[in-house]
Amino acid sequence: MTFKLDDTHDPSLRSWIASANDGVTDFPIQNLPFGVFRHDFEERPRVGIAIGDQVLDCLAAARAGCFAELGPLVDDALQSWSLNALLALGRGDAREIRRTASRLLREGTPEAARAQALRETIIVDMDHIGMVVPAEIGDYTDFYASIFHATNVGKMFRPDAPLLPNYKYVPIGYHGRASSIVPTGTPVRRPRGQTRPDAEAPPMFGPSKSLDYELELGALVCGENALGETVPLARAEERIFGLCLLNDWSARDIQSWEYVPLGPFLAKSFATTVGGWVITLDALEPFRIAAFTRPEGDPAPLAYLSDPADRSQGGFDITLEVWIRTAAMRAADSAAVRLSSGSFESMYWTVAQLLAHHSSNGCNLRPGDLIGSGTISGLEKSSRGCLLELAARGAEPVQLSSGESRSFLADGDEVIFRAWCARDGAARIGFGECRGEIRPASPEAE
Ligand code: MN
Repeated sequence: MTFKLDDTHDPSLRSWIASANDGVTDFPIQNLPFGVFRHDFEERPRVGIAIGDQVLDCLAAARAGCFAELGPLVDDALQSWSLNALLALGRGDAREIRRTASRLLREGTPEAARAQALRETIIVDMDHIGMVVPAEIGDYTDFYASIFHATNVGKMFRPDAPLLPNYKYVPIGYHGRASSIVPTGTPVRRPRGQTRPDAEAPPMFGPSKSLDYELELGALVCGENALGETVPLARAEERIFGLCLLNDWSARDIQSWEYVPLGPFLAKSFATTVGGWVITLDALEPFRIAAFTRPEGDPAPLAYLSDPADRSQGGFDITLEVWIRTAAMRAADSAAVRLSSGSFESMYWTVAQLLAHHSSNGCNLRPGDLIGSGTISGLEKSSRGCLLELAARGAEPVQLSSGESRSFLADGDEVIFRAWCARDGAARIGFGECRGEIRPASPEAE
């Protein structure tokens, strides 16, 4: 792995898009995340790069010749209707596109003069577009990489042995459902399912009464390893295009009845929401930190999950928040309130370890695969990344400033995730939002 800062990270860079320079935007010129959007007035989705409150329309920019120097493969990929063609090309080309976009959008370059002349054609207002899922996702795997989340949840179900003996050796995951991944802003219908609230009585079928969110980051896979080939940890990051916000909606009552012995199934496959913007690992470069420090006495990772560079710089310092806006808050015109705030640095496994482990049996990972981190929870109660933990499985309902309380989500609740990176000597960058509102269960007969 190589870690490098270049001129695209320079905190003094300014864009000719004024809103990119206000110091609070998630999308200054040092970020330049990729997404796929749809105009109000046009159906065909397009690749875009966020800049301030605007978007560089890559289809229009490529057609105007702005990326011609990168060759026909890149030019074609930028004119596609999903990120898959770019993901197939790999991180090297994505890095070059980001560099070119930086020169197009920063103040004072010859490229910028040309781009400014094309402004009406290649720049669109973020308010006038809708985000779509950024890639056609082939396979979705969700991990369980926060030891604090695993311990908190384990305690509720197994007070004597919260953490199972495999946890510190194997990155635990389950295979999720790709077809029900939806973009930010898509309403989420409360699922029906089988539950068994009374262990003495037979199970029943009906709307979930324990609907929850899970605060996570997703890693979008680029490149491909052939079936039977593994990805060594030292090269795993070359297979990660970038990170996005991810909400692994979970019906806890369905989950607790169905998950033994093969893991989550219908409790999670009804919807997974992804944020609209994929923050490249290149943009995250200034925010690298060491991997999680294992407490004294924990086993070292096995050799295939151990790499000095991953240990010293495989983590990312990302702050994440969960906000909620209930139907009552909306009716009173009140703003959303914050439920929790945590950090990605609390994860027991790095994203590179998750990807290397995933391929370690020869499983082929393909461009457009999505890897979820697992619920991001830290040591403190205020950093717990789902309601199951925050409200201690209903024992300590969360009190909201509206006078309401929540053990689990109610119909009409809107859940909003945000994340950002900030440190001295670097421009603050953010992830945008990942939001979804709970709608009542379908009216079909129970
Ligand atoms: Mn999850």
